[in-house]
Amino acid sequence: MFDGQVPQELNKEWFALFDLLNTLLEENKIKEVWLATALLYNNPIDLYQCLSCFFEKNYNANQCIRICTSYDTIGRFRNSQKEELWLNNIKNLKEDFPFVEVHTQTILTQDTIEKLIENPNYFDFITEYSTIDFRYPSISRKDCPTATGIKDYRAMMLKRLDQFPKKFFIEDRSLFLKFLKVFYKKYGLQKVQNLIHQPEMRSRNLTIYVEDINIEDRWNDTRDVYLDCGHLVDGLCYVNDDRHCIYCDIEKFIKNLENIE
Ligand SMILES: [Zn+2]
Repeated sequence: MFDGQVPQELNKEWFALFDLLNTLLEENKIKEVWLATALLYNNPIDLYQCLSCFFEKNYNANQCIRICTSYDTIGRFRNSQKEELWLNNIKNLKEDFPFVEVHTQTILTQDTIEKLIENPNYFDFITEYSTIDFRYPSISRKDCPTATGIKDYRAMMLKRLDQFPKKFFIEDRSLFLKFLKVFYKKYGLQKVQNLIHQPEMRSRNLTIYVEDINIEDRWNDTRDVYLDCGHLVDGLCYVNDDRHCIYCDIEKFIKNLENIE
């Protein structure tokens, strides 16, 4: 909503929302405000106006405001101009509002995995300005609303392979297992654990209905279909292997580390 999408006639309500968030922070009723944005706009004035609402106040807004964004090695950033724009927006943001925390989420696609194996420092340019968390690609309930079983999810995942850019899903399980070692060495146990548990932070979809507010949980919306191992169906995300679950592979990797230690 920070790229001029808020219609002029709703401007008053839009800023009233930020005033309300400010008051809740001041009164200690909430601890943080997270603003999710793609950071892909040429003019950041909307975002800056909203951020200024917080920093004009007397209380200490530092470290209460967090920008949640995401980075793709493919997809949105196939076009290098967009990637440059995103990075410039983060750099400028950190210059203009140095105490705003920025958190970037990235999907562990086949492409990302290959890049990290080749160069474990690949994401260092992002971590200069932002913290980072990783997630593997999965099909959610929203993508597959009529699915009743594992086969339906699997079919949908393979169908989406045609729609997404090449290398979107994890094509090769053995490469992922190799990747886990590189990833652990670079990012440590916590980030490996974050791949299967809730990471430190994630953006949520907020759907507002007339009568009530429903927070749609983007990450747990496949909870009604489980694999035999007890994990969610989205664990079957290897293209070349429909027998192994990624959650089990990561858990086994962590267990082996504990045995070594
Ligand atoms: Zn499993």
